[in-house]
Amino acid sequence: MKILVINCGSSSLKYQLIDAQSEEVLAKGLCERIGIEGSMFTYQKTGCDKTVTQIDQPDHKKSISIVLDALTDKENGVIADLSEIGAVGHRLVHGGEEFAASTLITDEVIKVVESCNDLAPLHNPANIIGVNACRELMPETPMVGVFDTAFHQTMPPEAFIYGILYEYYTKDKVRKYGFHGTSHAYVSKRTAEILGMDYDKAKIVVCHLGNGASICAVDGGKSVETSMGLTPLMGLVMGTRSGEIDPGVMEYLGKKENMSFEEIMTMLNKKSGVLGISGVSSDFRDVDIAVEDGNKQALLALQVFVHRVVSYIGAYIAVMNDVDAIVFTAGVGENDQKARAEIMKNFGYIGAYLDPEKNNMRGKEAIISTDDSKVKILVVPTNEELMIARDIKRIVEESK
Ligand code: AMP
Repeated sequence: MKILVINCGSSSLKYQLIDAQSEEVLAKGLCERIGIEGSMFTYQKTGCDKTVTQIDQPDHKKSISIVLDALTDKENGVIADLSEIGAVGHRLVHGGEEFAASTLITDEVIKVVESCNDLAPLHNPANIIGVNACRELMPETPMVGVFDTAFHQTMPPEAFIYGILYEYYTKDKVRKYGFHGTSHAYVSKRTAEILGMDYDKAKIVVCHLGNGASICAVDGGKSVETSMGLTPLMGLVMGTRSGEIDPGVMEYLGKKENMSFEEIMTMLNKKSGVLGISGVSSDFRDVDIAVEDGNKQALLALQVFVHRVVSYIGAYIAVMNDVDAIVFTAGVGENDQKARAEIMKNFGYIGAYLDPEKNNMRGKEAIISTDDSKVKILVVPTNEELMIARDIKRIVEESK
């Protein structure tokens, strides 16, 4: 079975066509500036060069039809016709408490996802537009929703309840949900496989450090704590997001700087984090270069980032009362050996030792701890699309 995985944002759409049996990516690409002048379409058949074309894409339906045309193109396509696509998987950001696993999409499911829109107003409506466009163009093909929040639904109440009036949870659903669930699930499972451990018994801390970043404590294959909250703004210091701050900052700055609530939220989401502290960039590569050039604020940004990561890892080891492995993934986690080295300086006390030579690599699976390190340290490149494809294969086969 071939599976089309769609990750639909408000003005962009990423896609991959995966062979579910061989788990090979057949083609992938990106639609950008949907609904905006100058829309771009990127297509890459595996083993061939990427092509980038400017094609008008007034809406998501047009973008998806362009993707389907490219996949079935006589010359550069990878399938003869659309009937070869056995299912479409949609990455959906917020499933609230309604979805603890991936789900076959029906009209009823769409209604329930829509009821979670308030919890992710930037993401969920765009995700649903993608689902509806695909359903129109491929009415006979099963669609599956895979939720970023689902993996964290195993968190116990003491981890997800906020210290505010309980009725805000019962009435308004205010609680910690957590995100990057598909990535945390894939990386923790793969870590257990690499280490030859029983996933049901392993205690793993996954550090998903990308532009958005979160940490997850995975105990016996279940998420028991994670650093993002009701929204993806909480937790670590990220590329442009502040992560955890004292909520009192909002009132204080509102008065002091005469900022509206909206301006404060934009500042916290888009102008903060590593960008805000360094004043250089949200991209760690730029910040690393600035540090080499002697930029003190850039150095401070990295130190704050590292400090926060260390604090969360330490807390999550305590939550699990032990740890077998600490794993790095996503853009920074997979590629930034300096950041990994700085973070791991702090864990000698639990018997976790990084091997500088093994750490001297990027972008591939590796155990980077010393041979005698009690706690294993790994790099595992995340593969959310593959995880989604596996989930879909299982769900579609079970539904037959
Ligand atoms: P992601 O959100 O997972 O795609 O991660 C994107 C981020 O990874 C970029 O903004 C960079 O900060 C970071 N990144 C990618 N490659 C490197 C690298 N070679 N060294 C340091 N950081 C990197």
